[in-house]
Amino acid sequence: LTRLYTPLTALANVRVDVMTALVSFERVFEVLDLKPMITERPDPVSLPGGDVSVEFDDVRFAYPSADGYSLASLEEVSTLDTRGGEEVLHGVSLRAEPGQMVALVGPSGAGKSTIASLVARLYDPDSGAVRLSGVDVRDVSFEDLRGTVGVVTQDGHLFHDTIRANLAYVRPEATDDEIWDALRRARLAELVDSLPDRLDTVVGERGYRLSGGERQRLTIARLLLARPRVVVLDEATAHLDSESEAAVGEALADALHGRTALVIAHRLSTVRAADQILVVEQGRIVERGTHPELLAAEGRYAELHRTQFTVTERSAA
Ligand code: ATP
Repeated sequence: LTRLYTPLTALANVRVDVMTALVSFERVFEVLDLKPMITERPDPVSLPGGDVSVEFDDVRFAYPSADGYSLASLEEVSTLDTRGGEEVLHGVSLRAEPGQMVALVGPSGAGKSTIASLVARLYDPDSGAVRLSGVDVRDVSFEDLRGTVGVVTQDGHLFHDTIRANLAYVRPEATDDEIWDALRRARLAELVDSLPDRLDTVVGERGYRLSGGERQRLTIARLLLARPRVVVLDEATAHLDSESEAAVGEALADALHGRTALVIAHRLSTVRAADQILVVEQGRIVERGTHPELLAAEGRYAELHRTQFTVTERSAA
């Protein structure tokens, strides 16, 4: 039973794990024992240099059902998430200009994370297209895609390994100076410096236990080290005290500066700062505009703002 139960636990976390690995496809799929369903074109194209735009053109998407996966062994079939099949994005179009921050807001289950995962090409749309600087992500090499799109999720998933290894796998040639610089900018250098083994401290369940805010800041340090031109970020304020909240907020602002970013926003300060807010509901974008524009429209955003973001602001105060 344990043998069957283990992959089940892994798969229950499949979305989080896949998202958190900063698009390190091989490593993630190695961990999960699954083969990716997306494939690289034999003659992939390179993205042009400079800032990157992100565009969704009438994207429709349903999660694949279990039999779409290539499994390590047949018995694992019974442990797969078989929710797939129903369309969850029903024609989503959006455009983030180079350097813009776009905030996605909306109720739970609306499709925000799904939109985020399509930018990193964790799945392919069933129809329509996702483009980076005008190039369909299906035409881009995995290496280019991995180097361009950085993904950060709520949980700040860490490998049971040293702090150095957790940071440097996104850029194996990074020097200790660069790692310390990223830690400083993520407001973590002081803590790491105070640990007996400093960068060699093993973190994770059986190692040094970082708090929720510290884990988030470590994933932000990863982002600062990888310096992707596009950042896809699931922001979360849950479980953070107000001090961590402020530290995470500052570190994030630093990491997002000058990047094209798609942020699943939970902070009032983020939606206020966003160049564009998209309200997602039941797989569709139902409203778009800036914070003042959408408040004035007195529609869904204004309603969400009264409930979701006011609560966040109060609990962070
Ligand atoms: P939340 O704010 O709760 O994270 P969300 O807006 O990000 O929600 P999604 O996670 O994108 O919403 O979910 C959109 C729909 O897709 C939901 O109906 C959800 O149950 C479904 N879904 C999400 N992940 C998977 C998956 N891996 N397999 C099958 N269905 C999924």
